[in-house]
Amino acid sequence: MNLHEYQGKELLSSFGVRIQRGIVAQSADEAVEAAKKLTEETGTGWHVIKAQVHAGGRGKGGGVKLAKNLDEVKELAGQIIGMNLITPQTSAEGKKVHQVLIAEDVYYPGDNEPEEYYMSVLLNRGTGKNMIMYSTEGGMDIEQVAEETPHLIFTEEINPALGLLPFQARRVAFNLGLSGTAFKEMTKFVSALYTAYVKSDASLFEINPVLKTSDDKIMAVDSKVTLDGNALFRHKDLAELRDIREENPIEVEAGELGLNYVDLDGNVGCMVNGAGLAMATMDLIKQAGGDPANFLDVGGTADAARVEAAFKIILKDPNVKAILINIFGGIVRCDRVAQGVIDAYKNIGNISVPIIVRLQGTNADIAKELIDNSGLDVLSATEFQEAADKVQEVLS
Ligand code: GDP
Ligand code: MN
Repeated sequence: MNLHEYQGKELLSSFGVRIQRGIVAQSADEAVEAAKKLTEETGTGWHVIKAQVHAGGRGKGGGVKLAKNLDEVKELAGQIIGMNLITPQTSAEGKKVHQVLIAEDVYYPGDNEPEEYYMSVLLNRGTGKNMIMYSTEGGMDIEQVAEETPHLIFTEEINPALGLLPFQARRVAFNLGLSGTAFKEMTKFVSALYTAYVKSDASLFEINPVLKTSDDKIMAVDSKVTLDGNALFRHKDLAELRDIREENPIEVEAGELGLNYVDLDGNVGCMVNGAGLAMATMDLIKQAGGDPANFLDVGGTADAARVEAAFKIILKDPNVKAILINIFGGIVRCDRVAQGVIDAYKNIGNISVPIIVRLQGTNADIAKELIDNSGLDVLSATEFQEAADKVQEVLS
């Protein structure tokens, strides 16, 4: 589950990570009130207005603007709220902005130039350990840094039994070229950040930029937080931070029906039982020259009701031009699935895309007979490859 920047920052702050202070606002008037309140607290009259959507690259898309007075706060917040923000990380349609974060301007002048670093905490799936990735080259072009100058990105792997050790936090500060106050601040920042990551069962923290202010404070100016959905049951307070408006509506609906569904860009709808078979099915569709429209695992008990629910979900995607049903009858018998497919087909009534059904396992032969004699526009296949080829045939 993803958090908004302001929610992520509140989470970090509760673990003692220094953050750029801010107040979230739903309207231009609320934005002005927020800015006044921040000025009272911080003394600065300058504020950044930041679109709150679940996508990075907001700065590049015009979703982060600097306001030098309250009139500008009002004007810019009014512009950003309600806009369709298109960034390198959104789809071409962009994302609707419902709220903005009004934050204190922390790039104020002083003894030193403010400096931007990059820092993330994530699981290295190769080694099975958490790691901290960081770079002196923070800011809006970190993707380019990773591509062109990967040696400028450092990593620190953490032993799960020992946790982040003090010398590791010092190494991070050292590699970032810090000394004096900023060095100490950074070791505190890294330690608190790592604690927050572990304690909140996060799967990704990305703080870009981490800022060294002109007076040597280290703080999070941005936050991208992904929490492990499977651990949310033990973080009821965090689970409440979910913002359904940011999610794909078909995925939300599928989730409520207990279906494991991920929307993709292709045109072949897939209905499969078991995540492994679903992955293999997507691979095979690709290999046969097609493009899957979704990942969908209907689960072990593919009964008529679930098949019907899955059909409806798949058909909500206007790009779907054919549906491949690939179900292994292990726990559930194939003839029952076949009957489920036929019943669902009749119940829904107006299915206009061709359907290819491959059922393997217990009573597969009876299932094939049922499908072939159903009189419906449903093709049956026995072999995996045959099914993928039939999909290509009906599409061409
Ligand atoms: P992103 O583009 O979605 O990653 O959004 P960020 O929160 O990282 O903001 C984008 C950029 O805005 C940052 O890289 C900073 O350069 C700039 N920015 C953020 N906060 C401030 C601020 O307080 N003052 C100034 N002058 N710039 C800021
Ligand atoms: Mn950023």
